[in-house]
Amino acid sequence: MVLCSHSKYLLQPFQLLSATADSDPLIVPRAEHSISRSNISPNALKVLYRLRDAGHAAYLVGGGVRDLLLGHEPKDFDVATDATPEQVRQVFRNCRLIGRRFRLAHVFFGPEIIEVATFRASAIPAGQDGTDDDVARTENGMILRDNVYGSIAEDALRRDFTVNALYYNIADFSVVDYAGGLDDLKAGRLKLIGDDVAARYREDPVRMLRAVRFACKLGFMIDDTCETPLADLAPLLGEVPAARLFEEVLKLFHAGFGLHAFEKLRRYGLFAQLFPATDACLARQEHEFPVVFVSRGLDNTDRRVLEGKSVVPPFLFAVLLWEPVRLRYQALLEDGVSWADAIALAAHEVASAQQRHVAIPKRFGMPMREIWSLQPRLERRQGRRPMALLGHPRFRAAYDFLLLRAESGEVDPELADWWTKFQDANPGDRAKMTGTGKKRRPRRRRRSKTTATDSVSRGADGDEGGHAARLQGQASSDDADE
Ligand code: ATP
Ligand code: MG
Repeated sequence: MVLCSHSKYLLQPFQLLSATADSDPLIVPRAEHSISRSNISPNALKVLYRLRDAGHAAYLVGGGVRDLLLGHEPKDFDVATDATPEQVRQVFRNCRLIGRRFRLAHVFFGPEIIEVATFRASAIPAGQDGTDDDVARTENGMILRDNVYGSIAEDALRRDFTVNALYYNIADFSVVDYAGGLDDLKAGRLKLIGDDVAARYREDPVRMLRAVRFACKLGFMIDDTCETPLADLAPLLGEVPAARLFEEVLKLFHAGFGLHAFEKLRRYGLFAQLFPATDACLARQEHEFPVVFVSRGLDNTDRRVLEGKSVVPPFLFAVLLWEPVRLRYQALLEDGVSWADAIALAAHEVASAQQRHVAIPKRFGMPMREIWSLQPRLERRQGRRPMALLGHPRFRAAYDFLLLRAESGEVDPELADWWTKFQDANPGDRAKMTGTGKKRRPRRRRRSKTTATDSVSRGADGDEGGHAARLQGQASSDDADE
């Protein structure tokens, strides 16, 4: 067998055993793996020790074990145990039980929460009794409820990918593998547990998005058996609650590999399920105009994440949905709708249609629409409006958005440069840039007959001074829009 670079984190090459539900797990003793307690959160260790000392089985599980074996810093630490949630609560005072049907324990340590889950059994196979109170599926086989406690072996096999089903046992510090996850970790391979891959995707179509996410995050290849069905099964995402998809979209695009994820999602037809309006625009334009804007926006976001800068959902969704908004805005303008009404209407239509697929919470939807509706206002540089815009709570995001549009060739970079200079300019220069200099007033009064000519010539210079009267007339509807 060829050991890929991932194997360097495993101290010894293991025998290649494929563990199944009825076979014994592969147990790797402490001396033969690289997980050190010094890399585990002290609070997670406290939880594990306390459960162990209270006589329960306690394991670190999931992404934490996977990432530790890969030498990455885990995002969080999840614990699995044979203790029921009520028993967990008896062990910890700083503990809250969450979830109405399937109860999980959250143990609080200041800002850190350690999630403790009782071992659960795999859902009953599709087609069998699906009406039980604790187990239910949709017609397509999607699991709605599977609230049945089980053994650790059952718990392992109900997880998604083999590399996510590794356990670190606090009793003897060994790593326990029921699903062949260690082999796949070594090979850099993402593989769903079980033979019936389509059934696993049907049980939870979000696993398709998770496949893309982990492939990008870990740099793993998706096993052929799991990659091939993606295109056919992508429409199953339509069954998933739109609010859950919102969370998944953030995990895909706010973790530093958004551009890569976008490309993969498009390749598998998953992006079209999440953002159908955007996908339709991109598919139409691909041959004439590259998918520059979204790609640049995501690349930019990735760089910010990697530099430790903040990223916010309204900006992300403004980027992801701009193309349909822009096209609709232009169509409305061509129909004679005023720019202020056109942008508001386009924003409203696109955002409302999107809610059916990925539900954007109101607190993010409002600022997203503001970023869009400020775009035409940024094109109006004369008079007092630019100064007023600087004070708008969404100005900075709208300006960043304008930079992206300029970078991708959608607007003249000169406009973006103007705003960059305007922000840095002193009050005198700002006045000159917007034609609001105090000195001009007395001059204007004295030569009042030439004002109209001035205005026309400003218009001829390429800015929108010539439209001043029209814009003035629209000021009220523009402001109402905001
Ligand atoms: P990360 O936290 O780094 O994004 P993770 O693997 O820990 O990755 P979580 O969403 O935190 O992912 O889930 C924890 C574990 O729960 C997973 O490793 C997996 O074992 C299991 N799991 C999560 N979602 C699913 C799912 N949709 N189907 C089956 N098992 C799942
Ligand atoms: Mg996790």
